[in-house]
Amino acid sequence: MDEKKDRGKKGNKKIKKEASDKMKHDVNSANASHTKLFIPTIFHRLSLPLWPKFLLTQFLPNHSSFRSYLHKMNKTSSPNCNCPEKATQTARHLLLECSIFSKDRPPVLKSLPPPLVLK
Ligand SMILES: [Zn+2]
Repeated sequence: MDEKKDRGKKGNKKIKKEASDKMKHDVNSANASHTKLFIPTIFHRLSLPLWPKFLLTQFLPNHSSFRSYLHKMNKTSSPNCNCPEKATQTARHLLLECSIFSKDRPPVLKSLPPPLVLK
């Protein structure tokens, strides 16, 4: 029983390390513009008291069911949002700009620059 728990802990540590390494890679990648919006440098990331979670790892790199990503994967015909702005639907657009979510947008997203939102 303890051995099984130990293996589970080692598995969790391995998964957490892989997620952390993936996030570090994303932050350092030249193509990580969405991640860099909220986490501009690795030093900023290391100062944040956060741990990778499902939604965070979907939004930060813009890899989820956002139309821009689905369009890039040839899963939808248009990368544009359904809002009146018809902007390219990215995580950034949905979090900070989309008028469809303006009423539901938390005040912190309206008042602080993106790198300070995760602090
Ligand atoms: Zn929109």
